[in-house]
Amino acid sequence: MQGLMQDWPLLISRIIEHGARCHGSSEIVTYTVEGEVHRYTFAECHMRSKKLAQALERFGIRHGDRVATLAWNTYRHVEAWYGISGMGAVTHTVNPKLFSEQIAYIINHAEDRLLFLDLSFVSMVEGLAERLENIEAFVIMTDPDHMPATSLTNVICYETLLEAEDGAYSWPVLDENAAAGLCYTSGTTGNPKGVLYSHRSNFLHTWSAAAADTLGATARDTIMPIVPMFHANAWGIPYLAFALGARLVLNGPNFDGQMIHQMIQDQAVTITAAVPTLWLGLLDHLRKSGLKVDSLKNVIIGGAAAPANMIEAFETEYDVQVCHAWGMTETSPIGTIGTLNGVTAQWSRDEQLKLKVKQGRPPLGVELKVIDDDGKELPKDGKTFGHLMVRGPWVARRYFRDEGGDMLDPQGWFDTGDVATLDPNGYMQITDRAKDVIKSGGEWISSIELENAAVEHPSVAEAAVIGLPHPKWDERPLLILVAADGATIDKPEILEFLAGKVAKWWLPDAIVMVDEIPHTATGKIRKTELREQFRDFELPTA
Ligand code: AMP
Repeated sequence: MQGLMQDWPLLISRIIEHGARCHGSSEIVTYTVEGEVHRYTFAECHMRSKKLAQALERFGIRHGDRVATLAWNTYRHVEAWYGISGMGAVTHTVNPKLFSEQIAYIINHAEDRLLFLDLSFVSMVEGLAERLENIEAFVIMTDPDHMPATSLTNVICYETLLEAEDGAYSWPVLDENAAAGLCYTSGTTGNPKGVLYSHRSNFLHTWSAAAADTLGATARDTIMPIVPMFHANAWGIPYLAFALGARLVLNGPNFDGQMIHQMIQDQAVTITAAVPTLWLGLLDHLRKSGLKVDSLKNVIIGGAAAPANMIEAFETEYDVQVCHAWGMTETSPIGTIGTLNGVTAQWSRDEQLKLKVKQGRPPLGVELKVIDDDGKELPKDGKTFGHLMVRGPWVARRYFRDEGGDMLDPQGWFDTGDVATLDPNGYMQITDRAKDVIKSGGEWISSIELENAAVEHPSVAEAAVIGLPHPKWDERPLLILVAADGATIDKPEILEFLAGKVAKWWLPDAIVMVDEIPHTATGKIRKTELREQFRDFELPTA
């Protein structure tokens, strides 16, 4: 027997329609690429998204066609997102921080027909244009006054494109399983692979993100996703804002500590989200200038492990709650979030701070398990670590164009490539990427745990740990450090400091100093580069 409820496809256009209908006066504030601060309402954003959809139809874009964006978080990018997906095409958000060969590869692989780009990327795209096989026109996301001189051909000004339309448009009723968005993973090896989101998966992810225990946002909040819209959909926040009616602040091309502080203060931001490296910049600025972040109540940290001292600084020095989250491009991205539950809420403040280093609990819709090399499920004891497997309605099942073959095991689990523990309270902790874990004498050493322990030392700004070959133990850890401003690193003292925090056999065999640790386009430590850099480094073997 079938249920007798209405069939209402879960479409992205319904998110923006709801936002405009029920929260039409909610505001979007953008720190634009052109420099000024732009403000308008959800209702205006909806109208302009519909104009964009009309313009795409007039251009001949059909259902399922891919349209690329190379853009910062701005109101025009939000309009393009909703306009492209809403009219039935696929919004392909391209990460401009990738190498230009990778950008050309993924635009060609996706067979994007149009490329929407910010002024910041015009000269980069000029250098690539010859290699772009399917792009029929370049839409520069600015107004006629700011249109640059360019060697690109078939160039359209975004505002001129919208000007020609009247917005009298009804969103098509699509199949909820139709593709809506495309985002390539910035894999460190092999070609990038495309994750193809559906309307349904993004809609369900939005509902989950809107739960009190997920991102903790309400219609009374002002949310600033500093995480870019090209990094796993800005963790779903531009959808979430319209779903809730929360005010949205968009940082444009501004990422430094001083600007982030100014935007938080000027716009009374209550919730913000980004990768740990970005928060290093904000905390450094706050400390040097003695400033506070008055309005901020919640900072979401994900994309890489948040160290304990960062969590503690936000919570105790600045009275801002940290939500440590884990996810992947393949998981839309929310997989776990570190909010307290009925048990952990009773713990002491110190115990809770320690707990927050874990990446948290999965929301309804995400199933997790940890298995050993033979596929056997491991105990949820908070100690035993193994391969982290995930499944759920917003987890990918195949990459675009079947790149990389089958993604899932026969029971439908996706191997995340992360190594993790699960504890009896339901909290997951990432200990490593499987390829970064250090295999020493048949046992595993967690590089992340060592890094987190090292950055707690006041003279350390950033730490990375890699495994180097060792004649007796297979691999041993090398600790790579960046000193805090004005500090000198005393290596024996660091070892002594670590000895109190990790098992003795985990202690690094050597410590080296560098000026800078390399990061990927999504803010992760680039360990392949470090392994290459220290390939000939000889660990002491005595
Ligand atoms: P991406 O698809 O670029 O977002 O990268 C996903 C990967 O980032 C995951 O598989 C993890 O290895 C890593 N990651 C994401 N969030 C965290 C976190 N909170 N702690 C540690 N690693 C994380």
